[in-house]
Parts: sequence; C-alpha cells; structure tokens
Amino acid sequence: MSIVVIGNGMAGSRLVTEIRERDREVPLTVFGAEPEQPYNRILLSNVLAGAAGPEQIGLVDRAWYGRNGVDARHGVEVTAIDRAARVVHASDGTATPYGTLVIATGSRSIVPPIPGTEDGLPEGALAFRTLDDCRAIIGAAEGARRAVVIGGGLLGIEAARGLAGRGLDVTVAHLAGHLMERQLDPGAGEVLARTLRRLGIRARLEAHVTSLRTRDDAGARRVTGVGLAPPDGDVPADLVVLACGVRPETGLARAAGLAVDRGIVVDGALRSVTDPAVRAIGECCQHDGTVYGLVAPAWEQAAVLADLLTGADAGARFTGARQITRLKAAGVDLVAMGETHHGDDDPGVEVMRFADASRGTYKKVVVRGDRVVGAILLGETSTAGTLTRLYDRAAPPPAERLGMLFAGVGGAQAADSPVRMPDLATVCHCNNVSKGQIRACWEKGARSVDEIADATRAGTGCGGCRDTVCGIVEWLGEQAVPS
Ligand SMILES: Cc1cc2nc3c(=O)[nH]c(=O)nc-3n(C[C@H](O)[C@H](O)[C@H](O)COP(=O)(O)OP(=O)(O)OC[C@H]3O[C@@H](n4cnc5c(N)ncnc54)[C@H](O)[C@@H]3O)c2cc1C
Repeated sequence: MSIVVIGNGMAGSRLVTEIRERDREVPLTVFGAEPEQPYNRILLSNVLAGAAGPEQIGLVDRAWYGRNGVDARHGVEVTAIDRAARVVHASDGTATPYGTLVIATGSRSIVPPIPGTEDGLPEGALAFRTLDDCRAIIGAAEGARRAVVIGGGLLGIEAARGLAGRGLDVTVAHLAGHLMERQLDPGAGEVLARTLRRLGIRARLEAHVTSLRTRDDAGARRVTGVGLAPPDGDVPADLVVLACGVRPETGLARAAGLAVDRGIVVDGALRSVTDPAVRAIGECCQHDGTVYGLVAPAWEQAAVLADLLTGADAGARFTGARQITRLKAAGVDLVAMGETHHGDDDPGVEVMRFADASRGTYKKVVVRGDRVVGAILLGETSTAGTLTRLYDRAAPPPAERLGMLFAGVGGAQAADSPVRMPDLATVCHCNNVSKGQIRACWEKGARSVDEIADATRAGTGCGGCRDTVCGIVEWLGEQAVPS
C-alpha cells in the first residue's frame, strides 16, 4: 500500500517522519509546494524579530528523505486528485498512484476585499504565512520607517512586535473592540494594548480598513498607507502586513468531491467521511466541528495517523485537543487557554481576576464545576505551568485559589518546580511530552536539553517550555550527584 502526502508543512512533514519511525518499507511520497525543506512555521515570528535565522528553523533536512527512502518533491504542487483512478497529478507533469492519500495542505492567508487589492497586493503590502513572506517583509522593512499591521490577533501582534524591534513606527489596525479578542477578554485586551504602546506600537481598535493607498513607482503600484473609516482617517505607511486570519486550503479536496465544511470533514481515524482511501490532518481538516489553528493538534493527528497507517496501533484515534496559546513577542509574556470571556456575574462559573494595568499585568482564571476551564496570564506568567496542567487534565483547582494567580501562594511555586511536578504533567504542549518521558530519557543517558529534544522532541515546537526542560534536566543531575 503506497502512501502519498500532499503538503510538506508542519503536519505533513511530521507525519512522514512518524511513519518512517514505525515502518521503514512502506512506499512514501510527499509533495510540498514550498521550495524549502520543511521548517517550523511557528518560529517565523522569531525570524521576523531577528531572534533566529531561517537556517535555524528547519524541521527535516533534504538528505533525510534520501536516507529514509522517501520520494520528496520539494517545490511541486499537486494540481488535481483523481479519486476514481487513485492518482494525483502534480505541477511537474507527473501522475502518482496512491493506496492511501493524506491531505495536509494547511491554510492560506486571508486577503480581505479591500479596495486597492483587486489586482493583487501592491508593492510593500505583504501577507505573513510562509518563509518567503517573512523574507519579503524583512526586505521591505529595511527601507521602511512606518508600518501598519492589519489584524490584531496573535499573528498580527507578533508581526508588529518584530517590526517595532527592527526600529519601525508600527500601528496595528484591528477590526474588533480589543486585541486578540478570540483568546482574551476586553480587560486583558486593554492591558495588552497598553503594554504594546510602551513598546512603541499603537493599536487602532474598531478600525475599518477602507483602502490601501498607493502611488505609481516606475510602473508598479507601491503602498503609501492604509485608509481607515472615520473617525480614524489615513495612516501613512511604507510597509503593510496583512495578518487577517487564515482559511483552510481545501480547493483540491472540494474539486475531488470530498466533503468539506470549513475544513475537510474527517472522523476520529482522520479519514474523509466521503472516501476511506483519503485522510486529512492539520489546519485543512475539520474534526468534530473544529478546525484547529495550532500545531499541537496537527502533530497529535500526525502521530495518530502514523499509528493507523503502519498498523502500529490500529485502535489509535484523535479525540480532540485543548487549545493553549502563547504569544512569542519580546517584552510581552502572554499565555491564554480555554474559556476566557466569562464575566464575574456569569452563572455557573467562578472567576478569579487580578489586574494592574500600570505594570502590564492581567490574570484571570475561570473555574466551572470544580474544573479550570479557562485562564489568561499577561505580563507575569509564573503560574502558567500549574494552570496549563490543571486545564489540560481538567483537574480540580486548589482550595487556595490565589495560588493559581500568584506563585508562592498556596504552594503553587512548589507545584511548578521540577521537584514537585508530577510525572504525568505535560511539559511540552506542542509535542505532548510529559515530565515522566523526560525523566525516562534522562535515565537512558540523555544529559542536555538538546539530547532530550532529539529523543522526545520536547522544546522543538514554539520553544516556550525549554526553560522548564532545562530545570528538569538540572534537577535530575542534582539528584544523581551524591551529596
Ligand atoms: C507566523 C506564525 C506564527 C505561528 N505561531 C504559532 C504558535 O505560537 N503556536 C501554534 O501552535 N501555532 C502557531 N502558528 C500556526 C501553525 O504554524 C500552524 O498551525 C501549522 O503550521 C499547521 O500545520 P499544517 O501542516 O496544517 O499547515 P502548514 O504548516 O501551512 O503546511 C501546509 C503545507 O502544504 C503545502 N501545500 C498546500 N497546498 C499544496 C498542494 N496542492 N501541493 C503541495 N503542497 C501544498 C503548503 O505550501 C504548506 O507548505 C503560527 C503560524 C504562523 C504563520
């Protein structure tokens, strides 16, 4: 049974390596429309901010495919799926037969229908999704003084912070009444806007973009600013970054007659509900009504599907994932999870909240039926480990509620420390690695964070857990030294 994977992004590339870890023989082909080797898309924000180079974010190097008998077609786009013949047609003119087809085509950036973009984006206006986009933004930022980022979600704020760090005067134009409205309540959004202001980033809220202003530049249209509906008016800019959300890339699947709602509709075995020979993972698929926009579910789906396709675990199923968002922007610590919008008076929930806008701190925990169902930590995140564990495992909160907001109260600090953390606690949420797995790996001889990462992948997603992994490794080392 040959397997063909369409898309060599974060989900597709992980699936291919997971399959090879379980089965060295099954014929495997992967098509990737991007010319590069697979890379960690999450870390593009760090590349934009200058904290990492493109060469540091690779996931699977080209030589790996040859060594592992995988036919990798870099820079080749699949153009059609013929389900009756079980063949995919690609931009290199090939027709490749499959026994099982996996669609992992991710998402594409939404370019809203703003006047001035009908004939494509003018020079100096760029989306932010791929390494190519990132390189183009960095290039454009070099000659620019003022930037407007359209969209104040996670991506827009990370882009704005990166550009401000490069010395640009940055405005974020956001349609909603507060920043990151999907993850934050209005109070947190307000504190975040203040924090960004201190970092030189202005937020225009409830801002309706009415046009991209352009001028003729040697025959090309070049962006000069963004028109906003009254009372905002125009914001001049030499660079405009569009961070207006993403849409699942489902064109191929639709054209092939597969069931598509917002994403390609799959069951717990990641199988298309239309055709059992077709599976879908990552941002292009929809499971139980949900399309995920984070890497942890995509990687979990890849592991489940590898188990199923290789027969390593015929009973493996994807049952849904909890969503934890961590902002990667220098000077802004932010972690948000679950239901964060409840008000103090909402029936059925208990809300704990602390705000100190002058220090950029906002903390909120929502408990329902003796379970932590949501939390925001902004500006001070020392209880993030405790809260993510409580949220992740739907565990009862401590009797001393304050300990969830402030480390050191009610033993929270101790629970967050490597010593007290239970073995079952998830340390790396992107890769679903527990403290127990890190300990087991250490016991087999791994002694550094990099060796742990090579063996377990902990810390190789967003990188937010590397300090915790480091703490565990140090603590295990201290345990081993007789005093
Ligand atoms: C700047 C940025 C920061 C992010 N930060 C975070 C974060 O902190 N935490 C988090 O969890 N998530 C984050 N994300 C989201 C995360 O990157 C995605 O959830 C993840 O990449 C989804 O993986 P995927 O494989 O489904 O899609 P992708 O990684 O987009 O991969 C899809 C691939 O399929 C290819 N493709 C599409 N169509 C075809 C075709 N017809 N033929 C061949 N190839 C095709 C595409 O070119 C692409 O390479 C961030 C995203 C961005 C852009």
